[in-house]
Amino acid sequence: MLIILQKQDYKKIVRQALEQLPVEACGLLGGTIDENGNSVVKGIYPLTNMDNSPEHFSMDPKEQFAAVKDMRKQGWSMLGNYHSHPVSPARPSAEDKRLAFDPKVSYFIISLLEREQPVLKSFRIQQGLVAEEEIKIIGEE
Ligand SMILES: [Zn+2]
Repeated sequence: MLIILQKQDYKKIVRQALEQLPVEACGLLGGTIDENGNSVVKGIYPLTNMDNSPEHFSMDPKEQFAAVKDMRKQGWSMLGNYHSHPVSPARPSAEDKRLAFDPKVSYFIISLLEREQPVLKSFRIQQGLVAEEEIKIIGEE
């Protein structure tokens, strides 16, 4: 199964990740599941990394709550979250795996290891086991 992302949302994630360097950027993904079972991201919600750290993140619970409330209002569900890896590859760290408690959501990681060529990947994580899922980027800039 795929996760479908609008090009403009992809660009927003990249921009946020770059702007928040050297700290990890984070946020939530809202959207719907289509008739084929693919996740379709309809909107992204940049959140504050309360750890203010280049190596880990925790999302501001108040902002998280407001984001989920807005998703409900739009008729969306919480499809997943994203965070950046300022200086490491786009794969879940031991900590990311430990903290991934929901096997039904997507975990996006954007690596800025190569500043000029950010790498975005999506993962499903179940009991510490990681499976990459394909991201399909669609639409106009
Ligand atoms: Zn991470």
